[in-house]
Amino acid sequence: MGLYIVRRARKKADFLKLKWLLQNFAARRVLEELVRPDERGPQRVYPHAGIPRLVAESVLEGLARGENDFPLSYLARRTIAKVLSLSGQALALSEEETRQALAKPSVKRTIVNGLLSLHRFGLRFPMRFWAPLMVVWNFTYRCNLRCKHCYEDAGPLRSSDFGLEEMSLERKLAAVEEIAASYIPTLSFSGGEPLIHPHFWPVAERAHELGLYLSVNTNGTLISEKVAKRLEELDFAYVSVSIDSPAAEEHDRFRGQPGAWERAVRGLRNMQATNVDTVLGFTITRYNHHRLKETFRFGESLGIDKVMIYNFIPTGRGKEMIEGDLPPEAREEALQQMYEYSASGGSLCTTAPQLGRVCQEMGRPDLIPLAHTGSGEGGDMKLLADLIGGCGAARAYCALQPDGRVTPCVYMPDVTVGHIDEQSLLSIWQNASQMNFIASREGLKGHCRECEYRAVCGGCRARAWAYFQDLKAPDPGCIRNAHYFLASLPARRAHSPASAESIAAG
Ligand code: SF4
Ligand code: SF4
Repeated sequence: MGLYIVRRARKKADFLKLKWLLQNFAARRVLEELVRPDERGPQRVYPHAGIPRLVAESVLEGLARGENDFPLSYLARRTIAKVLSLSGQALALSEEETRQALAKPSVKRTIVNGLLSLHRFGLRFPMRFWAPLMVVWNFTYRCNLRCKHCYEDAGPLRSSDFGLEEMSLERKLAAVEEIAASYIPTLSFSGGEPLIHPHFWPVAERAHELGLYLSVNTNGTLISEKVAKRLEELDFAYVSVSIDSPAAEEHDRFRGQPGAWERAVRGLRNMQATNVDTVLGFTITRYNHHRLKETFRFGESLGIDKVMIYNFIPTGRGKEMIEGDLPPEAREEALQQMYEYSASGGSLCTTAPQLGRVCQEMGRPDLIPLAHTGSGEGGDMKLLADLIGGCGAARAYCALQPDGRVTPCVYMPDVTVGHIDEQSLLSIWQNASQMNFIASREGLKGHCRECEYRAVCGGCRARAWAYFQDLKAPDPGCIRNAHYFLASLPARRAHSPASAESIAAG
């Protein structure tokens, strides 16, 4: 879920050299030096995460200031200089731009997180991260709309009306500190509708002060000119506004309120008057997939920066419209259209992890489909897709629920793996047995088990859970698992999931 906006073209040779460097036998020694606590100067032990300041952090801060007199071995200095120079070249950054990038707390956290991940898990395809690269925070159970496909079952009458206690402001502010202290670079607000909640601004202000890379996923109806300006002042990287159809009446039917489309489009336009990137979020279902190409054109006519295709998962209130889930054949056609749009220069992201497979089948492994992360083109992007690609649940990202529960993905609101009142977020991430279970691609079922695209895809674990209540079940939305989608139909109609094993046994 969520995305970084990837802007730069990259070069093949640089990524291959980087890969070689990271796999080099000396890399282990250098990593040991970088991830040890920095015993010089004042110690900063974060109260929530309990993580000491690491040598890597001091080194990166020094490099951002143009210094290079660190108490590191010759080997470590040489390796760091080489990795930085190759990364800078790969991202087409000048030395000065590299220094400016290193000064950003979110970049520093990404690098330290990457180093800790390599130290703990080694170079894996796909990578497993020491801490999430992104937390999506379902900020509230409340919403001013009542959309049919809402994974959170949010609406005007949720939360305290149903005994669901949301976190206090104090607890939320502590959670933001904990996220920043755990070397998590990215925080994305979702909902319910985050902008409806009075705690949104104080929490966003604190997140901004801590230098987190911020985004918000919203229905757009509350983005006045003033709200847009405030989001810009807080350095939000992007704002994603959900629009389910270029046809106003279709969107309003989904969203449960006449006039919602008009207000969402106005919100998007208000955002466009700022420097914040704008994303059009389209949740694809059986009812609107025929509008996909039209939506690309509609986004272009609005002048948005990116289209995000959310892969509808029948969870939350979406369970009630399980019949609206796209059959695998129609999803494959939609994936082809997404591929064609990307290949022709369109800027697109999707939460459908199978786009990685489609790009490779079309002979364009260089066309990067970093599901949930971004998109780009050029060079050996396949390496990046293999590293980061596919389902990120419990491996690169997790969700924080309004009441403090942690779930592997926003589309699994009922899979609670811990509560931040009882354990630190980092401890839940690293130790919860279900997180480790999902993060591993071992033991997948159906075609996902033998699929040659497991590294770039792995299947949407949330869809597997929604259909089979089994985190390792085949993703029945994929054409390669079409049999499971069709065979689960009677059970879906009866709202009692069949097991993947019983379907496989015929
Ligand atoms: S389960 Fe995985 S593929 Fe599915 S939405 Fe969540 S992160 Fe994406
Ligand atoms: S079979 Fe599974 S891993 Fe392979 S492309 Fe389909 S969903 Fe992805």
